[in-house]
Amino acid sequence: MGHRGGAGQRAHPVSIIGWRPVEAGRSGGVTLPGTAAGTAGAALMAALTWGMLGSPALAWGALVGGVSGMLLDSLIGAAWQGRWRCHRCGRAVERPRPHLQTCAGPLRLEGGRPWLDNDGVNALSSVAAGLVAVAATLLAGAA
Ligand SMILES: [Zn+2]
Repeated sequence: MGHRGGAGQRAHPVSIIGWRPVEAGRSGGVTLPGTAAGTAGAALMAALTWGMLGSPALAWGALVGGVSGMLLDSLIGAAWQGRWRCHRCGRAVERPRPHLQTCAGPLRLEGGRPWLDNDGVNALSSVAAGLVAVAATLLAGAA
């Protein structure tokens, strides 16, 4: 009766692509509390924008940009960020460098693009979210 999992696993990250569980420490995972917090933050920014500038179009742009930035970061991370694994200790590694002071085992690329690390993902998603925010603002203003 009932489903396994549930309350205790609610914060376990799942991949934004396919909703499969994501190993802790991997990029591209989303959690329900994390997504809710990110959405609340974007809504707060939108409310402040509306309050200070009196522009619903700008507030809409802030909301859409904030939420899409969060989702794009997970999406791009899940799809393209380089993923390595240490051959010696089996640990998941996000950068092609020695991951521990105590372990400099050989790394093996498991997926993603080797030239795209977490910083690159952040930069890409920020630029993309900025464009989305501008587009949303213009569309809302034109309506
Ligand atoms: Zn290792």
